Amino acid sequence: MNFNQTFLNKLSEAKKIVFFTGAGISAESGIPTFRGKDGIWNKLKPEELANFNAFMRNPQMVWEWYNHRKKIIHEAKPNAGHIAISEMQNLFDEVTVVTQNIDNLHRRAGSKNVFELHGNIERNYCIDCRTFYNEELDFSSGVPKCKCGGLIRPDVVWFGEYLPQDQFSGGEKASVLSDMFFVVGTSAVVYPAAGLVYAAKQAGSYIVEVNIEETEISSSCDESFFGEAGKILPEIVNQIKKLKLR
Ligand code: NAD
Ligand code: ZN
Repeated sequence: MNFNQTFLNKLSEAKKIVFFTGAGISAESGIPTFRGKDGIWNKLKPEELANFNAFMRNPQMVWEWYNHRKKIIHEAKPNAGHIAISEMQNLFDEVTVVTQNIDNLHRRAGSKNVFELHGNIERNYCIDCRTFYNEELDFSSGVPKCKCGGLIRPDVVWFGEYLPQDQFSGGEKASVLSDMFFVVGTSAVVYPAAGLVYAAKQAGSYIVEVNIEETEISSSCDESFFGEAGKILPEIVNQIKKLKLR
């Protein structure tokens, strides 16, 4: 990849950087995306499963889908893209990850400052009293229930639900304060998460997209690098190391 001079200048001056990531960064770990080429969106309809009404109608079916995804995620490992982002922590003053993913792979790769906009599949809670159940759940007698009798659900944000306020405002603050804002592996069509790109841009951050294909926000980015995140991000890390050595 040939990086242009403007990008290199921005990179060598930047102090605070944000990585705003979506399902695409985990694709190379073997976790299917929802949209884009090979997305699971086309085969299954996540919007019909990932919503509260579907859960109330058929909790068994929704849990089956989440248990299937949990298994894939447990067997997955962080890839070169997650690892490159974690390495950036040694190269910039402040690195923040704002992710739409629920797979926990950024933390497993060593990223410390992570805001999870859509929850985390490793956690669960009771829909009635909000008690958390983060241990392995027992499905032997049907959908697991809380001590209070309420159904236990995964702690992920479903369509039509609010984002966790503390995670969103933390991510938003880092976004508007950033010098560079990388948008990695997201179709950027899920709001309000995708709005962070425009918030960062409006606040004067330099927006860099990394995706295998053009997206809705490509034309709003200062730079778009097309290719796999697991290939491009390590190249950027190498480039920064060269710049810092000068
Ligand atoms: P999305 O599925 O809508 O889009 C994925 C994007 O990644 C596409 O634009 C695609 O072109 C790109 N992509 C695919 N492989 C790539 C690669 N190797 N390198 C770079 N880019 C690549 O994902 P989204 O925008 O995150 O929105 C979907 C929602 O679904 C999110 O809110 C998220 O919570 C959830 N989700 C999470 C996971 C996960 O945790 N891993 C997986 C699927 C969906
Ligand atoms: Zn309860």
